[in-house]
Amino acid sequence: MNAAAPMSDDLRTLYQEIILDHGKNPRNAHLIAEHTCKAQGNNPMCGDRVTVTAKVAQDQVQDIGFEGKGCAISIASASMMTDALKGQSLETAEKLFAAVQELCTGKSDATQIKTRFGADFETTVERLASLSGVSQFPVRVKCATLPWHALMSCLQGNGETTTEKP
Ligand code: ZN
Repeated sequence: MNAAAPMSDDLRTLYQEIILDHGKNPRNAHLIAEHTCKAQGNNPMCGDRVTVTAKVAQDQVQDIGFEGKGCAISIASASMMTDALKGQSLETAEKLFAAVQELCTGKSDATQIKTRFGADFETTVERLASLSGVSQFPVRVKCATLPWHALMSCLQGNGETTTEKP
């Protein structure tokens, strides 16, 4: 696999704007009363805590919401995650989880992920790609991936997760 391409300054600015927007005005920032699963994430490195609730039926994420306290990146990531996953199949949720891991660690860039997901997911991938800026700041990677780890625990019924380990 090719390494991710270096990021231009324009792209970096755009990514920062998306993160600031979601950090200030998080989407779906509430717990779902009729949830079918719930999990908490804890990132002691930064003090981020997030609770994810989802309503899953017929292998589909029908509703999803979160409550979080922490840095702008963790909140923005949770917000983007709920936006991206509402209405998606569990299979897609797992694929997006993997994609976000790759974006945040710099293993893949937006173009590579877009190719994998195709035209239907272009906008979703474009937004999630704003998290890829953290790949240059290893401590921040955990802030960005925390809500996603919590989500996977939620969907897999594991309750609590922590991203303390590398
Ligand atoms: Zn953080």
